[in-house]
Amino acid sequence: MTTQEIHFVDPSEKELELLLRQCAVVILQRENADDFLAWFRKHAVSMAPHFFQRFASDADELRSFISAFSRHIWDQTPLPGNHYLPRPLPELQPDACCPCDSKRNFQDCCAKAAHAEVSMFFLSMLPHVLDALSPQQFADLPYSELPPEGLGFVAETWMEQGRVLDVVKLLEGLFAHIDQLDERSEHCFNSLLACYDRLGNAQQKARMIEIGLAAANLKLRSAVMQRQCCILIDSKEYAKAWVLFETLRQLVPDDPALPHLEVSMLIGQGDHERAQNRARFWLEHLTFNHSEEKITLLEFFEAVANGESQHADENGKQ
Ligand SMILES: [Zn+2]
Repeated sequence: MTTQEIHFVDPSEKELELLLRQCAVVILQRENADDFLAWFRKHAVSMAPHFFQRFASDADELRSFISAFSRHIWDQTPLPGNHYLPRPLPELQPDACCPCDSKRNFQDCCAKAAHAEVSMFFLSMLPHVLDALSPQQFADLPYSELPPEGLGFVAETWMEQGRVLDVVKLLEGLFAHIDQLDERSEHCFNSLLACYDRLGNAQQKARMIEIGLAAANLKLRSAVMQRQCCILIDSKEYAKAWVLFETLRQLVPDDPALPHLEVSMLIGQGDHERAQNRARFWLEHLTFNHSEEKITLLEFFEAVANGESQHADENGKQ
């Protein structure tokens, strides 16, 4: 089995999704590993036959895979009763009785399978756990215990499923505690604004930006200010955008996003000559390492410095 072979296509992808969702429901009922592993052994294959077919050509292999996979799922599942942290199972000793129920030693049975295939699975159980919560548990979510990156992943997953209102509910809960958040929540903030865009709710979007502008964390606050700046540019309110930009320049002078924002603003208001000058200036004064992001930025400045922004603009008008 190589990594390349593991890319899910229907119907096993759908099956796996439903299986994981059901796993979260079962796990949250008692938060007991043995109960969950026994349930999985009994029901998983019938719930996701195509999925399991991919990993086992005979009964022994299937038993090993089920055992290792169920332990992996348990280990990745954040438990509400444990401050939304997983409670991983202890590592199996070679001479322990194999958990696959073969009655052999782990070493002589599933040791290989447990380490090889299953560790390749990236599993995020948080979306399923949140779906398995009662309405009261969801309302009482302890946001300070949930990793912002995890919430960002949930938001992305739900957006893909078209569950915009669920994302709004989740993330509005998060940003109700704006004073406790840091820059790790920037992704969630952008997702929430994207939700309001999809819902056509400009009023809520503006209100959320007001909330974001009150963030205690400087990096998060300046990220919100940059968003606000882009919104002002889009609505051609350049005077306000420049005031905000000046504030940003004082607050976070070394923020690598500012030069791009400045040149974009100049292009936006049709001031191509100044945009060209500033792009040349930044090409001379910025030090670039070779990350992909920086290379894209460098190409952008080079194009503007060569007067290409104006041509693009003129072509756009024709
Ligand atoms: Zn075994």
